[in-house]
Amino acid sequence: MSKSDLVGRRDALTLIGLSGLGLGGVGLAGCAGVPGNDEPGSSTPSARRTSPDPSTTTTSTTASPTKSATSSPTGPAAAEPDFQLPAAKRGLVPVLTRVPTKQPVVFLSIDDGVTKRAEALAALQHYGYPVTMFLTKNTIQNDPEYFRGFQALGNRIQNHTVSHDTTMWAKPFAYQYAEIKVMQDYAQEAFGRAPTLFRPPGGRYSKATRRAAGQAGLKAIIDWEALVSGGQMQYQVGAKLRPGDIVLMHFRPEFEADLKAFHQARLEAGLKVQRLDDFLGV
Ligand SMILES: [Zn+2]
Repeated sequence: MSKSDLVGRRDALTLIGLSGLGLGGVGLAGCAGVPGNDEPGSSTPSARRTSPDPSTTTTSTTASPTKSATSSPTGPAAAEPDFQLPAAKRGLVPVLTRVPTKQPVVFLSIDDGVTKRAEALAALQHYGYPVTMFLTKNTIQNDPEYFRGFQALGNRIQNHTVSHDTTMWAKPFAYQYAEIKVMQDYAQEAFGRAPTLFRPPGGRYSKATRRAAGQAGLKAIIDWEALVSGGQMQYQVGAKLRPGDIVLMHFRPEFEADLKAFHQARLEAGLKVQRLDDFLGV
C-alpha cells in the first residue's frame, strides 16, 4: 500500500465515504431520498472510500474489550469510547455513516417525528435502549411534549432541519443555514438544549451543508449504513449489524415491529446499544 493510500484512509475517517456503498441502488432510502456524496466534482477521489479497512487500525495498543456482550438490554456497562470525533476542517464538519470502533456497540437513531403514539414510548422503555432522535421542527412543533417523554429517558433531540427538504443539499448556503439554525434555536427553546449532531433530510449533503452545519454550532453530520423499516433490517454492507453501525429508524406506525427487528439483529450480532451522542462525547 502506498503512502498516499494511507493518507487517503486517514481522510476517510473524517469523511467516512458514502460513495461506493451503492446507496442509490439498494433501497436504503431514509425519510425520502438517499444519502449522497459531496457536490459532484468537488471531492477528491482519495476521500471517496468506504469505511476504513480494519487492518489499518490494528496498531492500537489498548486491550481487547474486557467484557463481551451479554443478553441484557444494553450490556453490563457502557463501553469505553475508542473513537474521537475529528474537528471541522476548513469549516466543514466531519461526516459519519458509522463509527469506526472496535467496541461491540451499535447505535440507534430515530428520525423525523411524524407519528406520535404512546405505544412507541412504552416499547422503547420495554427494551431500555438509548437512542438519538433527529427531529424536524415542522413535524414535531404541534406536540413537543411527546418527545419530552423520550428525552426524560436520557435521550437527546438532534437536528433534522425545519422543513425536511430533501433537495436542501443543492440549494444556496443561506437557505441551508436557515433550515439548520432555526431548528437549532427551536430545539434549544423547546427542549432546553441545542443539538450537537445533524442529519440532512434524506441523508444527502454537500460542502455547503457541512459548512452550514458547522456554522450553526453542530459537530458532525450523521448518516447511516443500516436501517430498519417495515419490521425489516436493511444493510448497505453485509447481512448483519457490525460494531459501530448507526441504525436509522423512524417514528412510524410500525415502530414496535421495527424495534423488535432491531432487537433481534443486535442480539444476533452480539452488540450492545449505546447512545451515539454519549459515545462521541458531544
Ligand atoms: Zn428524515
